[in-house]
Amino acid sequence: MSNQELFDEACQYIPGGVNSPVRAFQSVESAPVFVKSAKGSRVLDEENHEYIDYICSWGPLILGHNHPVIQQAIIEASQYGSSFGLPTKIEVEMAKLVVESYEGIDMVRMVNSGTEATMSALRVARGYTKRNKIIKFEGNYHGHSDGLLVKAGSGAMTFQTPTSLGIPEETVSQTIVCVYNDLTSVKKAIEQYPEDIAAIILEPIAANMGIIQADEEFLKGLRQLCDEYHIVLIFDEVITGFRVDYHSCPKFLGVVPDMVCFGKIIGGGLPVGAYGGKKEIMELVSPSGPIYQAGTLSGNPLAMRVGYAQLTYLKDHPEVYQHITSSAQYLAKGIEKILNELHLPFQVHQVGSLLTLFFTAQDVHQYTDVQTCDTHLYTIFFKEMLKQGILIAPSQFEAWFISDSHTKQDLDDTLIAIHQALVKVYDAMAD
Ligand SMILES: *Cc1c(COP(=O)(O)O)cnc(C)c1O
Repeated sequence: MSNQELFDEACQYIPGGVNSPVRAFQSVESAPVFVKSAKGSRVLDEENHEYIDYICSWGPLILGHNHPVIQQAIIEASQYGSSFGLPTKIEVEMAKLVVESYEGIDMVRMVNSGTEATMSALRVARGYTKRNKIIKFEGNYHGHSDGLLVKAGSGAMTFQTPTSLGIPEETVSQTIVCVYNDLTSVKKAIEQYPEDIAAIILEPIAANMGIIQADEEFLKGLRQLCDEYHIVLIFDEVITGFRVDYHSCPKFLGVVPDMVCFGKIIGGGLPVGAYGGKKEIMELVSPSGPIYQAGTLSGNPLAMRVGYAQLTYLKDHPEVYQHITSSAQYLAKGIEKILNELHLPFQVHQVGSLLTLFFTAQDVHQYTDVQTCDTHLYTIFFKEMLKQGILIAPSQFEAWFISDSHTKQDLDDTLIAIHQALVKVYDAMAD
């Protein structure tokens, strides 16, 4: 069956034909790629087209597709049983590994997704501070829980539904939305509610409105404000955790939060999330404390073994970070060179192994800058890349993920495709 035929059938049984909105390729006017298999930097679709993949499952596959270490861990894990509803040794080892990797964190609780991690972290921060309000930032995405689905990035942005139907206004009324990289907007909010704000949650490197790194001054300012007003600072590192560095953003950016949320990479491609914090905060979580949070499949033994295998590999192979970062730099430099040659005024952002090409002439620091991007041009670009066998995010507002499996040859092939695709964009602009 072709991708289109599969998609048509999928649409009969699954809303929009997909189990997560951005997979629909709707905003780039294409049928989704239905994946049959994947290996290394490549995915193979049901029509037997091969692509160099920069989606990489939206982040978990830092080592690339079906990496031998992961495959081996899955095979081994499958011998012991899929779930017990009782504690396992691997959960202890995994918790220890995560805690030891992250500065300022003493304890961690496993959940099944990034959404669960942020949702639970907020409950804990509220329980700890006995306050209700939270601050989030425009264009930051923290999963789809009610209180956080306000002015969120990526899927929500692509589909022009910054908020969703079905969310009670009362829930959202506790969420204050501030401007990313704008400390003044945060100060104003805190001055208005100095005793009511439980937590500030942010992506320290925003990756769901394209890649935008928080300014150092902004992050340090947030840290200070949180200390001063006893607000819990939560880093949502669902994408950045173990990606920008084995020790994540505290090491990479030099600011330590009170709580952290993980997802994606820590599961190695299996469904995992986690939230952690200082002991005095985390001890309030049930059953040691009065804040309830639970999960039938949380700390699932398959997911733990696979996640543990990936994290251990990353710990033992720091050269992975050098490789993926230099690959992304190589790509970014190559793109900039092409942009210059074609006199195109677009912006390339690269942080670690994450990359975005913003189709705007404007400098990009926050959500309103991102909104100046020409998504029509992105669609032209995307389609041409797809035609040439390069799979990038089907949305202007998502990152490209470079894995350890991407070779120099992959990158060079990608740059050739980018050149052609940007010529198409150039022509479209001239029309
Ligand atoms: C993906 C993501 C989430 C949500 O994780 P899911 O596993 O999709 O629920 C939360 N925060 C950030 C920063 C993410 O990128």
